[in-house]
Amino acid sequence: MKPVIGITPSIEKNESTYTVHRAHCDAIKQAGGLPLILPYGTKNVPTLLAQHIDGLYITGGYDIDPHYFNEEPHPQLGQIDPLRDKFELALVHEMIALKKPILGICRGSQIINVALGGTMYQDLSSQKGEPLIQHIQNRPLHYPSHYIKVEKSSFLYRIVKHNNIKVNSNHHQANNQLGRNLRVSAISEDGVIEAIEREGELFVIGVQWHPERLIERQDEASQLLYAYFVSEARKVMK
Ligand code: MN
Repeated sequence: MKPVIGITPSIEKNESTYTVHRAHCDAIKQAGGLPLILPYGTKNVPTLLAQHIDGLYITGGYDIDPHYFNEEPHPQLGQIDPLRDKFELALVHEMIALKKPILGICRGSQIINVALGGTMYQDLSSQKGEPLIQHIQNRPLHYPSHYIKVEKSSFLYRIVKHNNIKVNSNHHQANNQLGRNLRVSAISEDGVIEAIEREGELFVIGVQWHPERLIERQDEASQLLYAYFVSEARKVMK
């Protein structure tokens, strides 16, 4: 038996079509998990889905409705998917209640934070008042582009075993104030939060970069991250 990893898709074409980059599914498979793409649902659907999966994997995508962190939309805020926001925020709560692991990618990292009461930069370049490095890279996403510093005391450091790793970057938003029981696990040189994690034993990690694309080039830190996540999901299998 393989641990079932629920993967949240994005929704496209006027809410008619679910899409997931296959790199996410391939990365989960390569790490020994069984990827399962989750269609959205409300009411008791997140509860039922959380009972059926062993780990939750939240993919990247468009922006998050700032009303979830009590802000009005900034002029540089991008597209919002209301159905997706609601579904993923509910799933995060269900998984934590069931003590099942979560890995969030890019937007997924922000969803974890917002679900737990945190806030975000709706647009980094206009809201973070410091010179920034380039976070929307001008090179194919399977190449890393900037370094991050992994906090030595973090869970993430125990997984990737290096405090300076090079990652790819394709985000104009980022986490700001962190939600309940969350801490920073990595930052870039300009102070942007590049990874977060929940305090305690439960694996809840969000990364701002795209390990699913780096793993295509046998990136070691990405391989270690997926392997650890799937092994945590295996522990909760019934
Ligand atoms: Mn970045």
